[in-house]
Amino acid sequence: MDHFLYRDGELFAEDVAVSEIAAAVGTPFYAYSTATLTRHFRLFDEALEGMDHLVCYAMKANSNLAVVKLLGDLGAGMDVVSGGEYRRAQLAGIPGERIVFSGVGKTREEMEMALAGGIRQFNIESEPEMMMLDQVARSMGVCAPVTIRVNPDVDAKTHEKIATGKKENKFGIPISRAREVYAQAAACKGLDVVGIDVHIGSQLTDLAPFETAYGLVADLTETLRADGHDIRRLDLGGGLGIPYEQSNTPPPLPSDFGALIKRTVGHLGCEIEIEPGRLIAGNAGIMVSRVIYVKSGEDREFLILDSAMNDLVRPTMYQAHHDIVPVRAPEPGAARSAYDIVGPVCESGDTFARERQMHRLNAGDLVAFRSAGAYGAVMASEYNSRPLIPEILVQDDQFAVIRARPTFDEMINRDTIPVWL
Ligand SMILES: *Cc1c(COP(=O)(O)O)cnc(C)c1O
Repeated sequence: MDHFLYRDGELFAEDVAVSEIAAAVGTPFYAYSTATLTRHFRLFDEALEGMDHLVCYAMKANSNLAVVKLLGDLGAGMDVVSGGEYRRAQLAGIPGERIVFSGVGKTREEMEMALAGGIRQFNIESEPEMMMLDQVARSMGVCAPVTIRVNPDVDAKTHEKIATGKKENKFGIPISRAREVYAQAAACKGLDVVGIDVHIGSQLTDLAPFETAYGLVADLTETLRADGHDIRRLDLGGGLGIPYEQSNTPPPLPSDFGALIKRTVGHLGCEIEIEPGRLIAGNAGIMVSRVIYVKSGEDREFLILDSAMNDLVRPTMYQAHHDIVPVRAPEPGAARSAYDIVGPVCESGDTFARERQMHRLNAGDLVAFRSAGAYGAVMASEYNSRPLIPEILVQDDQFAVIRARPTFDEMINRDTIPVWL
């Protein structure tokens, strides 16, 4: 249930006709559903009921200030991976005690920013980072709360670019070296070791890798406690996948994920954090685009859209599938074609789908990419000098532009010509 449904043959976002938004803001654009974002956050929150917990939304999935504020107002914490995201969380009114800082390359400046502004914990990913944070915290006369991210060497069985829990990945410290690194951390006067962190990858459609990883974290908790560490918090990461193809068997639900967490680490009495991103935002968003031309090639037909790989890079970057649906539902019995669906960018990689079976479309028709709310707008670029496309938030029968489309001049005026030219 994602609140993008047809009514009388027209695609709606909650109670707003998608065509009405298109008429108001032009195409292409992203539209997000408040009800869906809310529902997904609550599913995770309820899945951990009975355990002391905080759902920290992984902001990198969709970091629009309005989305962050909406989730923050529901009680979400935030998982940030950069100073920019930390700043967005602050501006959305998220208190520091609900912000966790992840990522392998936190700079001294980012550490200072978070320590000054307030932070729940840093998830440390390496010894050099640990030494740097210790030094920064001591120089500020504070003690930084930390977990250490362990790499459990578990195969998440997902796309190689978003698998993070294998030993060849850049993330975390090998779990086999955890005791040694925790001993080092305990000796750092600027660090307060509060727990353990793990995150094995994104778009997992099977719970088994989580089960293995969390089992290892449970064992490690007992080992580290026996070593004298006060392990009181477990950050179990994000990564639960979403159904990108309506026709596939659906991935596990947040409730299944919550039950797994209770089963694997519930007995330890730790405070639990999870960091879902994609499952909260993914199916809460669509990207709407217009057909510019229908072009007949030698052996296939191309649907040329006004959106491109710079607006939604997932198909190009991860060979990802997005369901693409007409905004006006086809008449019963309408003819079908197999289209290559492409954008205007000057690369053959600018292809959203190949030989996709669709009801016949014409120039001027609107289409919607489903499941585009996560890793969509945030990964967009201005390649080919195409301005970033607007983002819209819908709530019931109202919608608001939550990021406006820049004009060409606004985009170009960020460049400056040096005095000697
Ligand atoms: C990307 C990421 C997440 C979120 O992953 P999703 O698949 O979007 O749920 C959570 N934690 C960390 C550390 C990440 O890098």
